[in-house]
Amino acid sequence: MKFHNSLKFQLPFCVLLGVIPIVTFAILLAGSMARNSMQTKTEEIINLETDLIASTVNKWDDMNVLALKHLSKQPDIISMKPERQKPILKKLVDNYDPLYRAMTFDTKGWNIARNDSNTLKYYGDRKYFQGPISGEEITYQSILGRTSKKLAVCLGTKIVNSEVKVVGVTVICSSLKQMTKELGQLKFGKTGYAMIVDRDGNVLVHPNPTYQIGDKLKNLAHYYPVKNLLTGENSDISYLEDGKELISRTRRLDNGWGVVVVMEKAEFLGDEHDFTQLMIIYGSISIIVLGLFIWFLANRLIDPISDLTENAIAISQGNLNYFVDVKRQDELGILGNSFNIMTEQLREQLSYLEEQVKERTASLNKAHQKTQIALKQAQDSDRAKENFLLKISHELKTPLNAIIGYSQQILENNSRDFRVNIIEQSGLHLLSMLDDIFHFNKLKNESLEFKFKTINLPLFCNLVVDIVFLEGHKKNVPVKLALVGDIPQFIKTDEKRLRQVLLNLLSNAVKFTDEGEVILKVTAMNSGVNSIDNNCLLQFEVIDTGIGISRENLPKIFAPFFQVENYNGTGLGLNISQQIISALGGEIQVESELGKGSKFDFKLIVEKTLIADLPAILFNIQGYIGKKRKILLVEDLLENRVLIKSMLAPLGFEIIEASNGKEGLELIERYDDLDLILTDLLMPVQSGLTMILQIKQMSKYKKIPIVGISASVSKMMHKTCLNNGCNVVLSKPIDRAELLFTLEQLLDLKWIEKSRSPQINSNLTREQ
Ligand code: ADP
Repeated sequence: MKFHNSLKFQLPFCVLLGVIPIVTFAILLAGSMARNSMQTKTEEIINLETDLIASTVNKWDDMNVLALKHLSKQPDIISMKPERQKPILKKLVDNYDPLYRAMTFDTKGWNIARNDSNTLKYYGDRKYFQGPISGEEITYQSILGRTSKKLAVCLGTKIVNSEVKVVGVTVICSSLKQMTKELGQLKFGKTGYAMIVDRDGNVLVHPNPTYQIGDKLKNLAHYYPVKNLLTGENSDISYLEDGKELISRTRRLDNGWGVVVVMEKAEFLGDEHDFTQLMIIYGSISIIVLGLFIWFLANRLIDPISDLTENAIAISQGNLNYFVDVKRQDELGILGNSFNIMTEQLREQLSYLEEQVKERTASLNKAHQKTQIALKQAQDSDRAKENFLLKISHELKTPLNAIIGYSQQILENNSRDFRVNIIEQSGLHLLSMLDDIFHFNKLKNESLEFKFKTINLPLFCNLVVDIVFLEGHKKNVPVKLALVGDIPQFIKTDEKRLRQVLLNLLSNAVKFTDEGEVILKVTAMNSGVNSIDNNCLLQFEVIDTGIGISRENLPKIFAPFFQVENYNGTGLGLNISQQIISALGGEIQVESELGKGSKFDFKLIVEKTLIADLPAILFNIQGYIGKKRKILLVEDLLENRVLIKSMLAPLGFEIIEASNGKEGLELIERYDDLDLILTDLLMPVQSGLTMILQIKQMSKYKKIPIVGISASVSKMMHKTCLNNGCNVVLSKPIDRAELLFTLEQLLDLKWIEKSRSPQINSNLTREQ
């Protein structure tokens, strides 16, 4: 895991991310509040100090005024001799501490008496004299003693007699030494100090001693705060001096003096820069301490979680030997403990499962061995069974052939004994079952081999239908043939296999149909097949109106041995048929609904052949084996009759002739042992087709095969005849080989070749 993805990084990071702005804000807020409160405090202190100074000076001044008033309220003093005045003045000076001088003047400005000297001088030019003389109540004059260099304040007021006449002036002088000592040294913080100025802006008190020493009073009337004070403007101001920002607070005293307190603004506000730096340092230290604390906390919380995570990964990878080292009692400790318990349980479960799997595997192996043995035994016994079946069917077939053969001979000799008929039918049934078993085994063990030969397709279909016709007739279920489309006359196919499949489907259809009909429909589908290469796509459909097949059984019917109860059979027919058709390149499909009948169909591509391709033997025969066959030839044209007769009579056929349908019918009734009818289709009096339809109405002659001869090229006509009882329709002019081929098929003839000995077919049934 990358470090920046881990909780160890993310948790402190997120907490710090959240905390830093809050801490910074809190520090700034606290700082700003602290600074505000400091400022307010400083402000209060300065105001208080300023007021205190003002009140002290006021009091000091009150005392001077009191002393002055004390003298001025004694008008008699002025009329006293100076020697008498002096002790009074001295007493006053001695009683008032800051006073160092008290004097009286006449109205001309001459000094009458003073407390400390007898030298009388003229003071008429002094402000403290001129002020009272010109009507001022009290005149203040700040002075710097010429010899003493002392800073002092002199107050003068007039002396008025009982007639309210100014009789003199009295003056007192008060030293500022003490006040300068007390107030001049006052300091506020590092940079704050106070000063006192008189009404003219002369410095009376200042922390700078040079301001109080010298020849002249130091005048600060131009100094910004003093100027402001004296002009009565805003007393709280801030201003620049020597590049520093200063603030001042001032008070005007009762006597017109002013108290000015000055301080550097930076100190007053608290040093903003220093303060910010301090805040940053404190903030950074707080954040580092906080970060370290969170880091420590995160480690304490996350280390066990990391342990758990590692263990979980190890367990998920199948390693159950991990233990979480639990040293804590808190929730994480409980989690770790539970994790250990869970791992332990998993380990136990796993080992239990492993044991179970071992046990099961062992017993499975045993079972497998047993199964293998049983399988081998079963296969052996299956093979033995198959061999047995093959042997039995072969053994059974020989006597069965004899039974069927003899019962057919008896029936041929005109015996109408129904018991012989039953023997023949049962024998045939048995034989077909044996055939199924035989074929099934054969198909299982060998690949199918086909023998292709030319067949007459309509004739072939007719004969197949004929075979099941009787079966259907017994149940009153007609079996019909429908040839649709451009059906080729001759095709190449494995006749036996195709017949086997169609018979199987047709006999099933008849077997499972009690009402309605069974149809074999053969359709020539030209689309999709290249007509140039002489191929043709045929669709064979066997349609019945029988019991149908349930949806549930439909997928099973092609499986070997599947059959519904209560019906005879082996359950192999469809399986064999499907194998044959798929080997021929098709597939049998089924559509069926219970109670509504079934439709089995398959499509095959077959090769069309020409008459010239018919078996060579047909061109070189001199007769046939067996009894003489009687043929009724119905043809209106004599020359045609002669031609056909010349083809057949030399081979041993007996030909009976009629010139129209009506005559034909009469002859049929006369010769009831006719083997075959060969008839033209278009004739005067009565057509061949009409005659055929009438013959098919007569059950006695129904079975006689009929070959139609037509000069018409109309395929429609051909098909009508074929679908109405004609086994084959031959086109004029009659081809000898085609005619003989047709007779061979219909009369089951065995030909005798001109030069060779006759072929003898030992098979007694049609289906083998
Ligand atoms: P079986 O010789 O027993 O007839 P098949 O393989 O020919 O054996 O047929 C298997 C089963 O398929 C039959 O038992 C029957 O259930 C069903 N089946 C075949 N054809 C039809 C049909 N035309 N109508 C109804 N069911 C049929």
